[in-house]
Amino acid sequence: MVGETRVESFASKAGMRAVVADVKRLGKTIALVPTMGSLHEGHLALVKAASERADFVVVSIFVNPLQFGQGEDFDRYPRSLEADRDQLRALGVDFLFSPSVEEMYGGRFQTTVVPGGVAERWEGERRPGHFEGVATVVMKLFNIVRPDLAFFGEKDFQQIAVVKNLVADLDMGVKVVTVPTVRDADGLAKSSRNAYLTPEERRVALAIPRAIDAARAAVDSGERDMLELVERALTSLRSSGVDPDYVAIVDPVSLEPVDTLAEGATARILVAGAVGTTRLIDNAELVAHA
Ligand code: AMP
Repeated sequence: MVGETRVESFASKAGMRAVVADVKRLGKTIALVPTMGSLHEGHLALVKAASERADFVVVSIFVNPLQFGQGEDFDRYPRSLEADRDQLRALGVDFLFSPSVEEMYGGRFQTTVVPGGVAERWEGERRPGHFEGVATVVMKLFNIVRPDLAFFGEKDFQQIAVVKNLVADLDMGVKVVTVPTVRDADGLAKSSRNAYLTPEERRVALAIPRAIDAARAAVDSGERDMLELVERALTSLRSSGVDPDYVAIVDPVSLEPVDTLAEGATARILVAGAVGTTRLIDNAELVAHA
């Protein structure tokens, strides 16, 4: 319950399951906030939203090797469990689940969840196996914690679509709640990976939210040609020193590209790109106000 100054930590699935059983016996609700730790204000916004909607909040911290590709940053991903625990304590989080890789994937682990459809595009194309790793760990976490509600950030917009389809397609009965992206004052979306950026790279990275803002401003002033906006965003990213992976303007549900935005319609601009050796993603809603 929020407001208390303790957070009970579990590294074992059995320990977590036992306390979940106790909570269920009391007829109380559980909200899960899955994270990879190195917590920042984006994560904390999810925790606060979760606290308002459920009797008990479980935060999981697990750097999931299954969702990192060969040559990606699994080994150097920032880890700060003690500092994370202090932040969660200050927010009155009830339970922290931070299993080891061995605890999650030890033994004769051999089953994964392969999401189709929306998982196959954009991040799924650039990071083969990424969403398989995400879907598998989310399914495992849901089975261990048995949450009523699970909280995900819009920062990872495609991930939300993948998780919502996972829950619907496999009849998991968990309500997926989404929380808007938290940004630094200058517009950069908060991310654990921002820690990799040098001060100069961080300045370059601001081209990403700027390109998104420019697209939004263009739509606000009547531009309906999304192919043109994608080209403009790519050009501005390149000229600022960001190496774009993709810019896409897509239907918010199917994640299929939208060429022309109809009056009154809504789309999502998705951006992925590298600044030095750091890969960043961001996105925002575009609304063609009639
Ligand atoms: P991560 O630890 O990066 O896997 O993120 C864990 C959860 O926090 C995911 O649901 C993310 O979408 C969410 N998240 C990460 N960054 C932000 C942000 N800047 N604003 C809101 N949610 C975020």
